Amino acid sequence: MNAMQYISTRGKAPPLDFAQTTMAGLAEDGGLYVPATWKTFSEREIRALRGLSYAQLATRIISRFSGDSIPDATLAQLVKHAYRGFRQVAVAPLKQLDDSLYLLELFHGPTWAFKDFALQFLGRLFGYFLSKHKQTCTIIGATSGDTGSAAIAAVRGLDAVTLYMLHPHARVSPVQRRQMTTVLDANIHNLAVDGTFDDCQNLVKAMFNDAAFREKHRLSAVNSINWARIAAQTVYYFHAALKLGAPEQAVNFSVPSGNFGNVFAGYAARTMGLPINRLIVGCNQNDILARFFASGRMARRTLKASISPSMDIQISSNFERYLFEILDRDSEQVGALMARFAAHGDFRLEPEVHRKATALFSAHSLSDAETSAEIKRVYQQSGELIDPHSAIGIAAARQFPETGVPTVALGTAHPAKFGDAVTAACGAPVPLPRPLQEIMQHEERMRRVPNDLDAVKVILERNDARLA
Ligand SMILES: *Cc1c(COP(=O)(O)O)cnc(C)c1O
Repeated sequence: MNAMQYISTRGKAPPLDFAQTTMAGLAEDGGLYVPATWKTFSEREIRALRGLSYAQLATRIISRFSGDSIPDATLAQLVKHAYRGFRQVAVAPLKQLDDSLYLLELFHGPTWAFKDFALQFLGRLFGYFLSKHKQTCTIIGATSGDTGSAAIAAVRGLDAVTLYMLHPHARVSPVQRRQMTTVLDANIHNLAVDGTFDDCQNLVKAMFNDAAFREKHRLSAVNSINWARIAAQTVYYFHAALKLGAPEQAVNFSVPSGNFGNVFAGYAARTMGLPINRLIVGCNQNDILARFFASGRMARRTLKASISPSMDIQISSNFERYLFEILDRDSEQVGALMARFAAHGDFRLEPEVHRKATALFSAHSLSDAETSAEIKRVYQQSGELIDPHSAIGIAAARQFPETGVPTVALGTAHPAKFGDAVTAACGAPVPLPRPLQEIMQHEERMRRVPNDLDAVKVILERNDARLA
């Protein structure tokens, strides 16, 4: 037996295995699922991962999270299919930018952003677990742009899944919107909410917190609150560190962050034994995380639209997982702090807990002007076109140089996805790849909805009634 158990950060939901955790998304008590214990790799085991293909590596690492929920051979198949559609054989190519700075390109998947790494796998995982139990589910998700298209690409056409994707109306780029709204499969429903991404996320959370509704519609989540996404994202931290000489060589990572999901996967990889020296959090002007790491106080402010819209977030939901860890897994305290945050929009950590956080994490925020300047600098120095999110990771990395430790900045989106911002920054036109050109001509389907829980619930109810 190799059962992996998952527990809620708020301590009031039943422990689940990997399959149940994947299908549940958010825990019933409003918390997030985390492994009950971390399965670690010894140095020898890490050395043995060298030279594996991306899919082989992913199978080895994800199996530490999936335990006996999936037979090894099945997992290997799911993973192989998940990364087969990537446009580069390396899946996640590592490019050297200067002496000690590297860019890990995570945007060669079907929707041109790093979300594909988690969602191509998660879609197949849903398909597998649902068909095994002859079940169906309704996935609801909120997107600041990239999760939506990645989730839609992953589950379109799956009979067992109906997907509702909420995006903030007129706050995602035209390419991002069209990547979602031009998918006309019958199981895909795009809802454009009159509000921000945080409003969309709150609507999703509220539907999950309504136990009767959740049960009735068999709700599942694809946001990074879903542990399987974090599991899949730990893989590229191993992939990059191994390329740079792990386990003998330690590595830093710099991660453009919004929901704290991506960088938390780095924290998970480190907890599993990967020699990560420092995790650098890059933020845009929605700098709640940078202010937190500077002060120990998490305080929400009004959201401001930026040229890196996938990071226009003021409530970093995955931060709760990290909070659980630095508070030594004290779910009472986590619950109290999250309740305080929900009611007052802020909480403060004790100085010694804050010190513990900054021993590993550094953070830096950039204005739009600084982000544009970084895009221009990289273009002039290396001829590389980088998107605004990736630019934030690179610029943040430059703030914390360390001798003898290479830093890997995560390239989270292809420049063509945010072509206007890139061209405005560096003057160079960004060619739109053929598949993205094509969707600019296709028919769109979406439904505009008010920022109102009941209005959204009614849409799900009516649709389900029609399908029944
Ligand atoms: C989602 C996203 C981010 C932020 O990742 P989190 O896991 O939410 O921190 C950064 N860049 C791009 C391009 C994204 O799509």
